[in-house]
Amino acid sequence: MKEIYDYIIVGGGISGLHLGALLSRHGRVIIFERSDTVGGRAKVIEKDGFKLDYGIHLIRFGPESALGASLLEINKSISFIKPGRSWAFLKNGERKLYPTGSLMDIVRSDLVPFGKTIRLLLKIKKMDQKKLKPLYDTSLADWYQQENILPKIQTYLTMTSSAVQVNPFPNRSSAGELLKNIQRVLEMGSAYYPQGGWGPIFNQFENFILENGGKIELNSAVTEILIENGSCKGVKVRDNIFNGSQIISTIPVQELFTILDEKYCESQFINKCKNLRPTAGVVIDFCLDEQISDIDGLIFFEEPLSFGFIPSNLSKDVAPEGKSLMTFLRVANVEDMKNKDTVKEIYQEFRKVIFRAFPEIESHLIDERSLFLPMVDGVEVNIKQHQFNRLGHTIKNVEKLWLVGDSVGGEGAGGDVGHTSVRECYKQIRRKENT
Ligand SMILES: Cc1cc2nc3c(=O)[nH]c(=O)nc-3n(C[C@H](O)[C@H](O)[C@H](O)COP(=O)(O)OP(=O)(O)OC[C@H]3O[C@@H](n4cnc5c(N)ncnc54)[C@H](O)[C@@H]3O)c2cc1C
Repeated sequence: MKEIYDYIIVGGGISGLHLGALLSRHGRVIIFERSDTVGGRAKVIEKDGFKLDYGIHLIRFGPESALGASLLEINKSISFIKPGRSWAFLKNGERKLYPTGSLMDIVRSDLVPFGKTIRLLLKIKKMDQKKLKPLYDTSLADWYQQENILPKIQTYLTMTSSAVQVNPFPNRSSAGELLKNIQRVLEMGSAYYPQGGWGPIFNQFENFILENGGKIELNSAVTEILIENGSCKGVKVRDNIFNGSQIISTIPVQELFTILDEKYCESQFINKCKNLRPTAGVVIDFCLDEQISDIDGLIFFEEPLSFGFIPSNLSKDVAPEGKSLMTFLRVANVEDMKNKDTVKEIYQEFRKVIFRAFPEIESHLIDERSLFLPMVDGVEVNIKQHQFNRLGHTIKNVEKLWLVGDSVGGEGAGGDVGHTSVRECYKQIRRKENT
């Protein structure tokens, strides 16, 4: 059986649905998702009235983000909630206000010295691209040394790197990328949480695709991307062939060669895909029978460096009335996630630090979920994989096959990369179609 579509999308994660929605305005879209639900690494699970995002899930710049821009463009905007004050729990047991960039936060907080921090932030704000560019290849640790950054400000910036670019490792976190991200935060504000969690975002995109006559096929793993004479013709799903004018893969590029024959690509490209370093880590979510803390911003732990927040303090509807949902992420090295004993250690140490800060969890716990993730973000933002070194949307010598998602192109970090890559790839596809 052969079916013909304008756009065939492999993967029903946020990138597949986001791009599918944009393209559904121009032709027939079909999305193939191998699992029984959409969402991929941002999927939402509902349990006993708790709506659990897939671990901590905020959206940098909320309505100003690439995701926010697309929702607005298709007339399916959602409400974004701005978090309140953030807090840092230090290894000496103290709790301090974590400044998110506003002058007043820096005045109020003694996590960092006021004068020096303000001067540094002003300096960062004024840096132009010429000054920033060479710093993309410089690690945060080297930059701390070059600039003689005070230890307290180092701690603050490393916490910021852990949250903003999911990289708590100063030896490889890209200084240029972090400074650019800080500039964007100073200009556009920080992360937001979607009202009702991530479910409404998926619903908006899914509804738009279906309203435009598109299809989303669950339990449908693509087993092969079909290429003929250097041009992509379609995909194979079980024994069926689906032909399409443009084929878009949204699966992380590390997995691309599970469905694409290597013979079509250059070895340098294959190696870059396979060796791309993702971020990894451990997530712990707690469902509680009542609210035990009123913190409505981010929560940082200094050691082990990790962070979290309380989604139900921002959007009450993600937990049953009167109940509370907390979520925490400890970023770990991808190699460590492959070793069972190390993972166990990471998890236990992490859980202990959460309980030290919030001992009330113990007596109010209804349910707890742990996730051990070999991939959090498709690409770790580091000195080798910063935005100027990332893969693009096309493959040399293969026409009509596009790559999208959080392992490809895009500025920013984490989900940002995915959302910006979707909008950039959408533009490129449309440009190609119109020439
Ligand atoms: C714990 C955690 C916390 C995070 N926190 C944040 C955050 O705070 N902010 C943020 O912006 N981002 C965050 N992220 C990152 C964000 O979730 C990802 O960037 C995003 O979900 C990636 O979406 P994607 O569609 O590009 O890829 P994926 O979600 O990986 O989607 C790919 C889809 O393809 C499907 N698939 C794979 N192979 C096949 C096949 N052969 N055939 C058909 N389907 C296939 C998969 O099942 C999957 O659904 C977080 C991620 C995690 C895991």
